[in-house]
Amino acid sequence: MTGMRWGIIGGAVTVAIGAGIVFGVIQSGSKVERFHVGGEVRRLSGDHLKLKDGRIVEFAGLRLPYDDEPNSAESRETLTKWVAEEGVRLLFDDEKEDDKGRLQAYVYANDTSINERLLREGLAFAKLRRGHQKFRQEFLIAQNEARRERRGIWQTLEPATDGPFMLDEVGASFHRPDCVKVRDAQTAMIEIKGTSAAFDSGCAPCGKCRP
Ligand SMILES: [Zn+2]
Repeated sequence: MTGMRWGIIGGAVTVAIGAGIVFGVIQSGSKVERFHVGGEVRRLSGDHLKLKDGRIVEFAGLRLPYDDEPNSAESRETLTKWVAEEGVRLLFDDEKEDDKGRLQAYVYANDTSINERLLREGLAFAKLRRGHQKFRQEFLIAQNEARRERRGIWQTLEPATDGPFMLDEVGASFHRPDCVKVRDAQTAMIEIKGTSAAFDSGCAPCGKCRP
């Protein structure tokens, strides 16, 4: 698996220089960008990294818990530790930026996929949007392991069975029927009775209606 990943990232290199400063290379298609990472990454909020050059990086294929959801503090602390200690490299999928220009990336530290590690520890929800399918299988396996072992979020989160809920497969989220995002949706949603099937398919609870 590791070999395949680095095959995708191509000639990316990470070199530690001096006091914890790491220079990374981002390769996306034929375009290569250099930036400062490692000690230069600052954690901003529940779901962002900020690079020294000001760019925002979000985690592709998942979402971290919001402040009022289970394990949000643990998720932040763990992630901050991993990133601060190990520095990062970024790998992009079909959808490299969101509509606000924030990078959406698979983040690697020490050859380990942080995204997959977050899911395996139950510190994030899989959110496999249409442009974030590269590691669909790996991410669902990791999340299923966390659910089975009741780690992190899954210690207290029981899938709901008192639907209906509305499933948005394109945006990889699910909602209460009266959510504004259901009302304004551009694509058809699927009605489901319980949320277990939504988690199985890599959809995360909506941040607005909190189903
Ligand atoms: Zn919603």
